[in-house]
Amino acid sequence: MTSPAAPALSVVVPAYNEQEVLPEFHRRLAAALEGIDLSWEVVYVNDGSRDTTLAVMLGLQAQDPRAAVVNLSRNFGKEIALTAGLDHARGSEAVVVIDADLQDPPEVIPDLIAGWREGFDVVYAQRITREGESWFKKATAAGFYRLMQSIGGKVQLPPDTGDFRLLSRRALDALLQLREQHRFMKGLFAWIGFPAKAVRYDRAPRAAGTTKWNYWKLWNFSLEGITSFTVAPLKVATYLGLATAAVALVYGAVVVVKTLLFGNPVAGYPSLLTVMLFLGGVQLITLGIIGEYLGRVFNETKGRPLYLVERHLPSEPPSTGATAGDQPAERATLGRVA
Ligand code: UDP
Ligand code: MG
Repeated sequence: MTSPAAPALSVVVPAYNEQEVLPEFHRRLAAALEGIDLSWEVVYVNDGSRDTTLAVMLGLQAQDPRAAVVNLSRNFGKEIALTAGLDHARGSEAVVVIDADLQDPPEVIPDLIAGWREGFDVVYAQRITREGESWFKKATAAGFYRLMQSIGGKVQLPPDTGDFRLLSRRALDALLQLREQHRFMKGLFAWIGFPAKAVRYDRAPRAAGTTKWNYWKLWNFSLEGITSFTVAPLKVATYLGLATAAVALVYGAVVVVKTLLFGNPVAGYPSLLTVMLFLGGVQLITLGIIGEYLGRVFNETKGRPLYLVERHLPSEPPSTGATAGDQPAERATLGRVA
């Protein structure tokens, strides 16, 4: 449970090497939340940055006690950094998830809050445009969403939606129960359900710094999405096997009849080789698919904590009259397991 002094809203911001953009992010966030009439905090998660991101965060917290800092023990990746932030969010009413790079404009947050005040538990921001991204990234993203939609079944991913969204406290508590290691957050957000609403916005190009994505990572991200979403690929082997067996049966009958009618002048080396190589390839692919799932089972069974926190400096409770100098209550919680 959250204490009565907890802020109403938490804004969770995972950041990896975002030193250039964080001060501007904080300024725009504070300006955007000026008129919302809710007490709020912002939870900055430093995901093992190699630059001065942590120092920048600590500087922001020194100036603005509404900022909390969670410093992870190393880089864990965005999905887990985000989870760490959600775990440490004290917002008693709602939480907003947003990227640090200003591609998700903080100015949209009041619209998300408006949707939540209408009674929706999940208010997600849907991109109208994706400025500053190549046509190839847009096309692959569109293909991925179409694929996920066709295999999703009961759990449907809203298209053109990233992690930028608002969750009510009860939706957040539901989400936090999902502790799997392989965290495809969009899938987890979709899985919890609850009344949801879209708010449309223009996605801006990155304000500064560089994206941490490349196509190999995106490919792996898609695999993560598919395998955490559905076991349908495991059935591919079954159906390929059935189809092959059916074709083999027919072809076998043809060969027998041909031999009976015309004798057998041993031939067919090329076709034999083609069929063998084809079947070998199909077997390796299906083995690979099984391997993808088995590897994930392996990682889950280890049961490790999702992340380790090097230190957690909570935000100051709103309107307690304490001064900014005397807050760091939980310094150096080394090895703390969440
Ligand atoms: N991020 C993170 N850990 C990582 C990679 C990224 O916390 O290992 C953060 C990053 O700082 C940013 C957000 O996740 O706030 C989105 O990352 P990025 O902008 O690189 O992704 P894109 O917007 O290109 O999908
Ligand atoms: Mg980005």
